[in-house]
Amino acid sequence: MMIKPDTRTRVLAYVDDIDAHNYGAGRRARMFDNFLETLTAPVDAIRLLERSGITPDSPRPDLREARELQARIRYAAGFKRTPTALVVFGGNIKLDLAPVRSYGVTLAQASTSGVCNVCRWSTVGCRAGCVLQNGHGGRATVQRARIARTWLLYLHPVAFYAIMEHETAAAARTCERLGEPGVLRANVASDVPHERYTRALTASPWLLPYDYTKAPERQRPNVDGYALVRSIGEHHTTADIRRIALAGGRPVVIVDVSTKKADGAYIETMPPTFAGIPAIDGDLSDDHTKTPRGVVILLRGKGRPHVVAAMRSCGFMRAPVAA
Ligand code: SF4
Repeated sequence: MMIKPDTRTRVLAYVDDIDAHNYGAGRRARMFDNFLETLTAPVDAIRLLERSGITPDSPRPDLREARELQARIRYAAGFKRTPTALVVFGGNIKLDLAPVRSYGVTLAQASTSGVCNVCRWSTVGCRAGCVLQNGHGGRATVQRARIARTWLLYLHPVAFYAIMEHETAAAARTCERLGEPGVLRANVASDVPHERYTRALTASPWLLPYDYTKAPERQRPNVDGYALVRSIGEHHTTADIRRIALAGGRPVVIVDVSTKKADGAYIETMPPTFAGIPAIDGDLSDDHTKTPRGVVILLRGKGRPHVVAAMRSCGFMRAPVAA
């Protein structure tokens, strides 16, 4: 497999080099940040996966081997040389609003991993407002952890899916044992059509997958048992939103209403319709596995003033439309 050999070879060599030394965690983290700055040619993650030849039926490495590859990458990113979960339960404010057990896989959004773009269909507006946007002035630990997961997908896609499949099955078994159905958002900060490469996400009635996607339906079609909601970008018109909803889709629109809270609740309620289509308040729960088709999901634009201004000026965040 020869995909962007310059970058891939460099990244593999970097991981090997750090693994061969006994640097402290702080030094490894600083070196990682500095190395990231030199990565300037991220590839498209879907193209990478297609070229790798991975399918739901292609052989997977032994789980221990896959975890060893993950541990080496994490070590290079400044962490202990140990693997960690890809499929994470809890710890995400939005996902934790769901009334059921909620799991998520969080990569580094768009091209922030330096190696691959995991948001092929992202727009200027959504990248500006991405709630997982990296802060300036150094990368936080949580962001390095997301980048390390993304490096695993980039360097060793079959190892990534081996771990994801194992952990998804384990999460489903946990839900079954507890008698509590769960949900899995496999793209918390990415838009990778995992359903092309694994069947694990739809394998159990105890763990239901859902995702937000900006992909046109012809490029990421609906899949039975996988609730896909269609994120609306600044290029969509009101007529587009209405068409998607009336065709049985679940469009997600960022609307320009107050985000101020009182006692944890939003002050301003969402309008009951958008462009004449029934609408729901998507900020109340991130779980869309039961969201009916044909409704518009409304989210409030959030973030610091300059982020909100950027979303507003490009049209990503739009005013409610009554009819
Ligand atoms: S597609 Fe989603 S995850 Fe990617 S940059 Fe846009 S909002 Fe963030």
